[in-house]
This record gives sequence, C-alpha cells and structure tokens, in this order.
Amino acid sequence: MTARAKINTQALRNNLQQVRNAAPERSIMAVIKADAYGHGLISVARALEQADGFAVACLAEAQQLRDAGIQKPLLLLQGVLNTAELTQAQELGLELVVHRSGQIDLLEQAANTVPIKVWLKVDTGMHRLGVALREAQDCWQRLLACASVVTPPRLMTHLANADNVDDQATQRQINRFLDLPMATEAECSIANSAGILAWPASHTDWMRPGIMLYGVSPFPNGEAALSGLQPVMTLTSQLIAVKTLLKGATVGYGGAWECPEDMPVGIVSIGYGDGYPRHAASGTPVLVNGQRVPLIGRVSMDMICVDLRTVPEAHVGDSVTLWGEGLAVEDVARYAGTIGYELLCQLTGRVVFEVV
Ligand SMILES: *Cc1c(COP(=O)(O)O)cnc(C)c1O
Repeated sequence: MTARAKINTQALRNNLQQVRNAAPERSIMAVIKADAYGHGLISVARALEQADGFAVACLAEAQQLRDAGIQKPLLLLQGVLNTAELTQAQELGLELVVHRSGQIDLLEQAANTVPIKVWLKVDTGMHRLGVALREAQDCWQRLLACASVVTPPRLMTHLANADNVDDQATQRQINRFLDLPMATEAECSIANSAGILAWPASHTDWMRPGIMLYGVSPFPNGEAALSGLQPVMTLTSQLIAVKTLLKGATVGYGGAWECPEDMPVGIVSIGYGDGYPRHAASGTPVLVNGQRVPLIGRVSMDMICVDLRTVPEAHVGDSVTLWGEGLAVEDVARYAGTIGYELLCQLTGRVVFEVV
C-alpha cells in the first residue's frame, strides 16, 4: 500500500492570489526552495507562472528549473561560494544574493562577463546571513562600481520574528532597513509570509512568500483558512487492518498505549519511512473517512495505529488523510513538536505524488 501526496495546483494559484490581495501592486518572488517545500519543484514552478520570479536556496535547484525550461527570474538566496559557482550562476542567468563582502570580491574578479543582477542582503537582526549595518554603505558602493553587476543593485533583509505578531523586534528590523540611505534608490525586499500577512510596513517592492503559497499559516497558532489560504498538499493512505483489541492490550512498539476498554483499532499504511513524523504523539489527529480520530501508540516505519471507537464502521481499504484538505498540517505539527514547514519538506521517495 503506498501513501499518496496530491498536489492541488488550483490551491497554489489561489494562494498566490492571496499574496497579491495582501500586497497589491508589489512584485512577487515565490520561494520554491527545498523542492518547493516538498511539493515538487518543477510542477510548482509551472503552476505559479503568474509569479514575477522564483527564489531557491542553491545552484542545484536553479539548474533543475532551467533544465526544465523555466525562464523566469531566479534568485539564489545563498548566493555563490566561489568563482566556479559564479560562472555557473552567470551561465544560468541567475540573480544573486550578496550577503558577505567575499562575494563582492568574486564579482570584482570576474572581468569581461555579462553583468549579473544582485541583491545586497543586510543583516537587520536575524544574524544569520547578511552584511552588518555598518558595512552596508561600503558594500553598496563597491557593488555600484563593479562592472560585472547590473546597477543599481537591489536591497533585501530577512525578518527573524515576524511570526510573532506581538514582537516589536520586527518593527525595529523594518526601521533599520528603511533607514539605510540606499533604501530610497534601490528596489527593496523584506517580507516573508508572516511579513506579508501581519506586517504591512514590511511591504516593499518585492514580496518573498514561501509557506503561505502552500496553504499553511506561518503563525504558531494561526489558521491558514482565515487568510483565505487553501492547503496544496494532501497526504493520504489507507487502512490495511481493522481489529478489536481487548481492554488492557498495548499497541505497537514499547506498548506505549494501552486500550482502556475493548475497542476497534485501525492500522494505517504510513510511517516515518514515508516521512510521517515519528514524534507524532498519541492523540495526533488523523482523518478516517473524513472523521477525526486520534493516533495511538508509537509511529513505526511503515505503519501507524488509530483509535476507531468513534468510527466503528471503518474497514480495510478506507481512505485515511494524514494532513491537507480537512486536516491542517499545522495541527499535526503541533502534536509532533515541530512546524508544518518541516513536515511538508520531509516526505520520502516512497510517497507517490499526483499533481492535479
Ligand atoms: C525561506 C525564505 C523565505 C520564505 O519564508 P516563509 O516563511 O516560508 O514565507 C523568504 N525569504 C528568505 C530569505 C527565505 O530564506
């Protein structure tokens, strides 16, 4: 029995439209790194033809897109590491993030090349990638003077806490960015999904939505549906056994769950070998024939067990939804001690994808 991930391209397009509604008149750089958050890089890129550009993390992802004939602007979020990567990026016609001065050295050394579009990334508080505020002016001047760069460069930063709508650190990051002297002359980009939905002050020329495109809320207790978002991935499998266990019987490895009474239990063909999280606790919601039932016992490699007391008529072959339509991946993530982003990204090659 194989698990299936249905990818709903209509929902993807709806979610892109929600970005447009939240930030009208802005350009949209759809973030499709990590195999489009596990949804399938090429099919997502094709479905999002209304986006103004795509952002990916690394060269291999950009190469796949170009190999598939995707011609849109492509931004390499980590930029390049050395001259060989710079040459490859130029050949692929990419745009580069420049987040440290060593990357400007590479551009300065690349003489006689077709100028490349770059985005100077400034660290306004995330403290991951980006040049320090105090270096920004110097880096900007060097890029302006660099023959292998299309001028003026663009300017970006990344928000660290935008998913916490009460945290004023986000406003401070936005202020630091907009106070940069070159922010007035450059095309700018600040907002990720949480910025788009909760921080209008972060709306500048370019939006960089990721998770919201896939129909998932960026907020810890958010409901995507409230923002008009629709889940793109629905992960399903089937019941492969249904049995009655007697009071006191323990279920699965370690006997981690004990039946409080005689009860029907279903065995579903999905496990961590498919990317279903092993840390999903007893009580994690699962849909059997559209009805919410709790997972019981430990997640195994190929199977999980569910409590069927509220759906005693369920039988072998019935459909089971692990997340997606009818069951937000955010809900499942909470029971697994993680976030929807991670669950979407970690499905394995055993899952069969179907793009509709
Ligand atoms: C991943 C990423 C995004 C998208 O973030 P979401 O929270 O998924 O919207 C935007 N910008 C950068 C630099 C990123 O790395």
